[in-house]
Amino acid sequence: MRLAQTLKRIELETRPIHPETRRALAIRWSELPEHAKTPNQLLGRCAVGCEGTHGVFPKCNLTCSPCYHSADANKVRIDGDHTVDNVARQMSYLRQVRGPRAHAQLIGGEVSLLSAEDHAQALLAMRAVGREPMSMTHGDFEYDYLLDVVLDEDRKPRFDKVSFAAHFDSLMRGRKGAVRPHSEAELNPFREKFAQMFIDLKRDHGVDSYLAHNMTVTPSNVDEVEQVTRDVLEMPFDMMSFQPAAFIGDDRRWREDFGEVTIDAVWERIEAGAGHKLPWQATQFGDPRCNRSTVGVRVGGGFAALLDPDDPKDIAARDRFLDHFGGMIFGGIPKPVLVVKVVRAIAGHPGDIPPLFGLARRVLRRAGGLRRVLREARRGKVSFKTFVVHNFMDAEQVDPAWKLMEQGIVADDPLLKETQERLGSCMYAMAHPEDGRLVPACVQHSVLDPIENIELRRLLPIPSVRDGAEPQVVSRPSGLTGVRETGASRATTR
Ligand code: SF4
Repeated sequence: MRLAQTLKRIELETRPIHPETRRALAIRWSELPEHAKTPNQLLGRCAVGCEGTHGVFPKCNLTCSPCYHSADANKVRIDGDHTVDNVARQMSYLRQVRGPRAHAQLIGGEVSLLSAEDHAQALLAMRAVGREPMSMTHGDFEYDYLLDVVLDEDRKPRFDKVSFAAHFDSLMRGRKGAVRPHSEAELNPFREKFAQMFIDLKRDHGVDSYLAHNMTVTPSNVDEVEQVTRDVLEMPFDMMSFQPAAFIGDDRRWREDFGEVTIDAVWERIEAGAGHKLPWQATQFGDPRCNRSTVGVRVGGGFAALLDPDDPKDIAARDRFLDHFGGMIFGGIPKPVLVVKVVRAIAGHPGDIPPLFGLARRVLRRAGGLRRVLREARRGKVSFKTFVVHNFMDAEQVDPAWKLMEQGIVADDPLLKETQERLGSCMYAMAHPEDGRLVPACVQHSVLDPIENIELRRLLPIPSVRDGAEPQVVSRPSGLTGVRETGASRATTR
C-alpha cells in the first residue's frame, strides 16, 4: 500500500504538467474575453498571470509624483505580523484558484520598510504555496539589509535565489543622495550600486538573483527612455519594465498630462535605446493595450528575440510548445525531478524535437552565429533580457467600468467598454480571500486601495511621539542592519 502511494506521488511529481495547473489554465482560458483568445495569447495556455499583494504594508518613505498609493497609505503603520499573516492568506487563496505555481509580487508600499526578518518571512510564506516572489522596492537600502533578508540567524542563506524589482526614475523624490534628481542619468550610480549588491551577494554567499528595473514614464522623462535603456542594458538587470503613468492614487501628486505618453511611444524609445527592433507580437500576456513584452538574448551589443513574429517556422514552434508543454513548471524544482519531467514531456511529443531545435538554431543565427555567441560569452557579454511596457489605466474609467462589470453590464460608452475588455483580460491580479475574488491591479489601486487604507489606518495607526511612543525599530535583533525608523519620528514631521 505504502509502495503504491509512493509510486503515485513520484508519478505526479514528475508529470510534465501538474493536473491542478491544467485545470487552472483551462479555467483561465475559458474566462478570457473572446477578443483576447488570440494564437499568441499566453494566459490560459502556459501562464495564469502575475499576482501581487495588497494592504500588507502600504507605507512608503519617498514622495514621488505620480504615486499610485492612495492618500492614506502613509498613515498606516508598518506591522510585520499583519504583513506576514495577510501575505500568507492572500497567497494561499491564489494557490487554490490559480494552481501550484505563479510569479507573485511582494508589493506595498516600500518593502524595505519591513524589518529584514518580516520581509524574509513574507517571502517564505509566498514560496510555501508555490509562488515565485519578487520584492518591489525603490532600491534605497543597504547591502546589510539585503544580507539580513537573505541569511538566517546562523548567517546561512535561506533562499537559493531572490528576485527584486527596483524602481528608479527622476520623478521620485527623497532618495538618499538624489533627493530631487534633475535627470535620469543622475540616477545611474544608484542603479549600478543596487545591481552590484546582488553580484556581491552571489560572490559572498552563492545566492542567485533575478533583477528587474522599473521606470515610470511621463511627458517629463519620456525622451530619456532611450538613454535609460542604453545605460541599463549595460547593467546586470534581467528585465527592463516601463510604466506610462496613469491617473491613479494620490491626486495631489498628479502634475502632468500623462495621456500624452502612449505605449507605442515608449516602445519606440526602448527600441531606439536597444539599437534594434524588439518584436513583441509573437506572444501576448492579456490585452495588447495593457502590455507588451519580448524576451531575447543580448550578445555583445546585439539582441536576438526568442521568437520572430514574421517567421512562420518560429510561430509553428511557438504553437507546438504552447499546445504540448504550456504549463510545465521549470522553477523551484529539484534538478533530478526536472530532468525526469522534461524526458517524459519529450517522450510524449518526440515530433516536437526538430522544430524546437530549429528554433534554437534560428535564435543562434539571429545572435550572429555560434562562434560569436561563444566569443561574447567568454567576455561575459551574453545574457537574457526581457523588455516590458505595462500600461495601467486611469481611475476615472476603471471605477465606473468595474462597477458595471460587477453587475454584469457591458458598458455602452466606448472608452468604458475598452476598459472592461482590458480588465476582463487582466494579467496582474490581487486576491481577496475574504469574499472569494481576484481583482485586476488597476481595480485594486483605483477602487479598493483608498477604502482599504482608511480601514488599515484605524487598524494600524501610526503612534506619535506626542503620545509617548518610541520610534519603531525595524531591523532584526541581530543588530547587523542599521536602525531604520518608519513610524513615530516621521509622524511628527508630516
Ligand atoms: S492591471 Fe490594469 S493595465 Fe495591467 S493588465 Fe490588468 S487591467 Fe491591464
